[in-house]
Amino acid sequence: MRAVQYRTVGSEPEVVEIPTPEPGPGQVRLKVTAAGLCHSDAFVMSLPEGVYQLPLTLGHEGAGVVDALGDGVSGVELGQPVAVYGAWGCGRCHACARGAENYCPHAGGLGIYPPGLGAPGALAEYLIVDDARHLVPLGDLDPVSAVSLTDAGLTPYHAIVSSLGALPAGSTAVVIGVGGLGHVGIQILRAITGATVVALDLSDDKLKLAREVGAHRALHSDESAVAAIRELTGGVGAQAVFDFVGAAPTLEIARQTVAMDGVIQIVGIGGAVLPTGFFSTPMGATVRAPYWGTRSELIEVLDLARSGAIHVEVERFTIEEAPEAYRRMHEGTLRGRAVVVP
Ligand code: NAD
Ligand code: ZN
Repeated sequence: MRAVQYRTVGSEPEVVEIPTPEPGPGQVRLKVTAAGLCHSDAFVMSLPEGVYQLPLTLGHEGAGVVDALGDGVSGVELGQPVAVYGAWGCGRCHACARGAENYCPHAGGLGIYPPGLGAPGALAEYLIVDDARHLVPLGDLDPVSAVSLTDAGLTPYHAIVSSLGALPAGSTAVVIGVGGLGHVGIQILRAITGATVVALDLSDDKLKLAREVGAHRALHSDESAVAAIRELTGGVGAQAVFDFVGAAPTLEIARQTVAMDGVIQIVGIGGAVLPTGFFSTPMGATVRAPYWGTRSELIEVLDLARSGAIHVEVERFTIEEAPEAYRRMHEGTLRGRAVVVP
């Protein structure tokens, strides 16, 4: 089968021919119908040697049809269209029992890694899923439109749901970075909160996209945005700031715009540090760096899409075009999400 692999540190991903995998006991093989590209893939490819075992088949957003079942698998049917819940945990601990496999403390120690982030990923013709519980039926959702809900939808949803208490009618939410995650985050805020949504990005195209998907205001991501948000909120600031970049300038905007008792969710893995404390962040403000989302939240995100409340803007690519799609991501010229259709 063809697969998109990151093979050597510092080089671009390559399209290669590798053996089609067979499902082992308890595993499910999918014929991939769509796979999304995430900025986190670029982070993986920026790491030094030894962090990930190479070659690594990329892709942690996957959808497919059930193609083959390993011994002992039940509860899924051959030919069934599914989306993959990618934050694989041990399945037995307290976190996993409540569906929060994204916070399983045992996964790494047991050698359990998400597809595309350690295990072979979805940017291939076939994908092995370690357990049927990591599949969510797609029903009549189009896999190409829906696949990125598994991360670009689920991750902002998880961050927003844990901030709901801060976002009643009359509140203000700031979204920094209107890329794959951010443009879905804006729609989720509009769908499930009462907040006025202010979006920040660097390019006019992204600000236009932000308005199209429901942002009330879209502003250039610089110091003028801080003053504008303060003015818009009568000096109070934003009750929640979702930073989908996580770089020093965006964290500084977050720090200066969050309201007292507000919340900053650092979703982007830009790796910068936000000084937090009595004289750094407003009184009562919470700072959190969430990771991905829970299994039940993925079901909710798919339901939200099914209801028409949210959608993903998709640019389609073939497997052969995947390296080009990563270049476009690097340049910042993608609108929404790049999705590979094998
Ligand atoms: P993306 O490339 O699609 O979008 C990033 C957006 O940020 C672009 O629109 C870009 O123009 C904008 N941007 C860059 N610098 C900016 C600045 N200074 N101010 C305002 N906007 C700026 O990326 P994505 O796939 O949406 O991922 C966003 C981030 O979230 C990445 O860091 C990614 O690794 C991370 N991520 C985290 C999790 C998690 O679980 N925490 C999950 C998925 C992705
Ligand atoms: Zn991701």
